[in-house]
Amino acid sequence: MTRKPSRWRRFRQAAGGLLAATVALTAMAASAQTPRSVCTVAAFEPPARINASSLRSLVWAPFRRDEIGWEIYARQIQRELRTTCAPDTSRFAQLLAGFQKRFRMKATGQMDADTFLRFKGVWQERRPFVMVNLNGYCPPAPDPATLAIAAPTESYGGKTIPLRPGTLNAYRAMVAAAKREVPAIAKDTRSLTIFSGFRDPDADAARCLADANCDGVVRATCSPHRTGLALDLYVGQAPGYGPDSSADPNRLYMTRTPTYGWLAANAHRFGFVNYPFEPWHWEWIGQAP
Ligand SMILES: [Zn+2]
Repeated sequence: MTRKPSRWRRFRQAAGGLLAATVALTAMAASAQTPRSVCTVAAFEPPARINASSLRSLVWAPFRRDEIGWEIYARQIQRELRTTCAPDTSRFAQLLAGFQKRFRMKATGQMDADTFLRFKGVWQERRPFVMVNLNGYCPPAPDPATLAIAAPTESYGGKTIPLRPGTLNAYRAMVAAAKREVPAIAKDTRSLTIFSGFRDPDADAARCLADANCDGVVRATCSPHRTGLALDLYVGQAPGYGPDSSADPNRLYMTRTPTYGWLAANAHRFGFVNYPFEPWHWEWIGQAP
């Protein structure tokens, strides 16, 4: 139960190496898409055509809930493939084939449920909270007295947002860079504001029990928000939806915003990783949960 995993140390080494390697790749710091003309590889036109169609039509359940299409995850996949070529280009298909080959899969260059499962595994392994949680270990919440409070301008709707000091520092560095690099983010005062940080596990569980419609089990048992390392960021909201609505049209809208595009391509520079089912949910990996 209280096994403090030495696997964390191994994870940190891996994540540290990963971070260093990815920081070196800042050539793709900009989140803009590369012109299609330079994303063309003739031999991969056939899978590219299939991807162009499945992007909006693939019927699957990547997170145990039926979904149609995979565009919601395209930004994270591009980041993983180190490309800004659009997901329906032949260069993207070529890189996808390379990824499949690395995982000893049939290198079709076509996105499908099995290939996505590999991406998902890679992404989940980068989340220390998920890794320590695998065997049922739920990290204790930090003493609230040790937490820092985000400034009112950093919080969404004036909410009080406690976080571990390291998380807040990393967040501030990230937001400063985002505003420098993307005028649209600098202009929108809601962009990247925090609507949830540390959540006291007892209060969270009580609220969950009182609220028949809360996102249930995770909140009641062991939410990453108990660590003070997780934060929910405003990345946009489709008309009629809230900034944390997991309805597919809302998630698709969110992942198309410049804010999410920039995060997907750059948040790793500041030690943040995303839970791709929730475009707003980010975790700082600079400290053990
Ligand atoms: Zn969250």
